[in-house]
Amino acid sequence: MKKINVLEIDPAANASESTEAVAALRAKHVMPLPGPMYTKPVQIVKGRMQYLFDEKGKKYLDGFAGVATVNLGHCHPQWMKAIQEQMSEYYHTPALYLHPSLGKFAKRLADVAKQANPAMDVCFFTNSGSEANDLAALIAKNFTGSPDIVCLRHAYHGRTLMTMAMTGLSTWRHSTPYGQSVAFAEANYPYRGVNWKQAVEDLRNTIRTATPGKIAGFWAEPINGVGGLITPEPEYFPAAYEVVKKAGGLWVSDEVQTGVGRTGKRFWGIQQFGVKPDIITMAKGLGNGYPIGAVITTPEIAKSMHGKLHYNTYGGGPVQMAAANAVLDVLEKEKLADNAAEVGSYLKAKLEKIQAKSPNVGDVRGMGLMIGVELVKDKKTKDPAPELAVKMLDLTKDAGLLIGKGGLFGNVLRIQPPLCITKKDADFLAETIEEALG
Ligand code: PMP
Repeated sequence: MKKINVLEIDPAANASESTEAVAALRAKHVMPLPGPMYTKPVQIVKGRMQYLFDEKGKKYLDGFAGVATVNLGHCHPQWMKAIQEQMSEYYHTPALYLHPSLGKFAKRLADVAKQANPAMDVCFFTNSGSEANDLAALIAKNFTGSPDIVCLRHAYHGRTLMTMAMTGLSTWRHSTPYGQSVAFAEANYPYRGVNWKQAVEDLRNTIRTATPGKIAGFWAEPINGVGGLITPEPEYFPAAYEVVKKAGGLWVSDEVQTGVGRTGKRFWGIQQFGVKPDIITMAKGLGNGYPIGAVITTPEIAKSMHGKLHYNTYGGGPVQMAAANAVLDVLEKEKLADNAAEVGSYLKAKLEKIQAKSPNVGDVRGMGLMIGVELVKDKKTKDPAPELAVKMLDLTKDAGLLIGKGGLFGNVLRIQPPLCITKKDADFLAETIEEALG
C-alpha cells in the first residue's frame, strides 16, 4: 500500500528494548489482554498531543486516544504541570483527612453535571469506570430498594463482578455465575434492523418479563464504545425514559467514553438526546489518562448511602483532583468540545463519501469524535467482516495511523482520537482509511 503519511522520525523516541523482547516478556508474565490488535505488535514509547512514536521513532496519528481516554492529547503541558506541581507538594492522602482540592473539584464537576441535570450535586470518586458503575449500581439499589438492573445488549460497563454481569457482549462474558439480577433489552441499532420503536417495546417487555416489574435502574452509554459505536435514533432515549420511570428506575448514563466533550459541543453524551439522567458515571477522559472514575448524582439519591460506610483508598486524592481539574481547564480554554464537533462532522462527512464508494463499508455512525465504521463482506447480506477489520488496522498502522476496533463481531473500526486533532489530521485519517480499503 502506498504510504500517504508524512512519516516523521523522532530520534528522541528510541527505546532500548526490541518489540519482540517486550512482547515475549509480556506474554510470559502478564495475563492475556485484549491486545495486541495487530498481526505484528506495535510498541509505543512516546506521545505528544495527537501523535505517538514507536521505538524506532516512527510517528503515528493517534486515532484511538488510548481507548477514548487522552482527550486533551498526550502529555498536554498544562495537565502535566498541574500533576507535577501537586505531586511535589503532597501526593497521597486518604479521604480521612481534609484536603482543599477534593471539595473544590467536586463542586466544579457538579456544576458541569448540572448541564445534564440541574439537581446534580454530590460526587463519589473512584479509580476507574468499572468501579464507578459498580458503585452506581450499589447507590441505585440502596435508593430504590430494588435489586434489578436493566442494561442494553452490546453494552460494556466494566470488569468487576457486578459490571461484567451488566455487559451485553458474549466476547466479554466468562463462564462464571455472576449472581446479579441483570436483564438485557435490545439496543436501538438501526443498521442491524432494530429501530427505536422496537427497542422501546423490547425494553417494556424485558421489564415485564425478566424483572419483578420494578427496577433499580437502567444503564445506557449514550453511544456505546466497545460494542461498536451503536448510535441510537433521537427518539429512543426520551421514549425509553418514560418506560424506566414507570418501573421506578433511575436513569444511569455511563459517560466513561461519551463524557468530557467527546460527542461534540456538549460535555455529556446524554445531552445530545435530551434526557435528564439521575446518575452519571465517568472515567477515562476525566483524567486524560491519569486514573480516575466518578459517580455524580442528586443529594436525594446520594442520601441512600448515608449510615453505611463506603471507602476508596485513592478516590479523590490530591493528584487525581489536580489532573481532572486541569482537564476541565484545558477543555474550556481550548474549546475542545467545539473542536470535536467541527472536526468530527468534517471527518464523518469524508467517511460517508468513502462508504458510498466502498462495497465493504456498511455503516458510518457516531457524533463528534466518536465515529464507528462498520465493515461488512457484502452490503446486501451485511455479513460482518472481522478479518477485513484486522487487515485495516495493520495497513493503517503501516501508513502511520492507529485506530481501534470493536463490536460484537470485531468488525467496527473505532475512530476516537484526542479532541485536539485538526482538519489536516482528519484528511490524513480519511485518506489512509480509503487507501487501505482500496
Ligand atoms: N464503561 C464504559 C462505557 C467503558 O467503555 C469502559 C472501559 N472501556 C468502562 C465502563 C470501564 O472502565 P475502566 O476500564 O476504567 O474500568
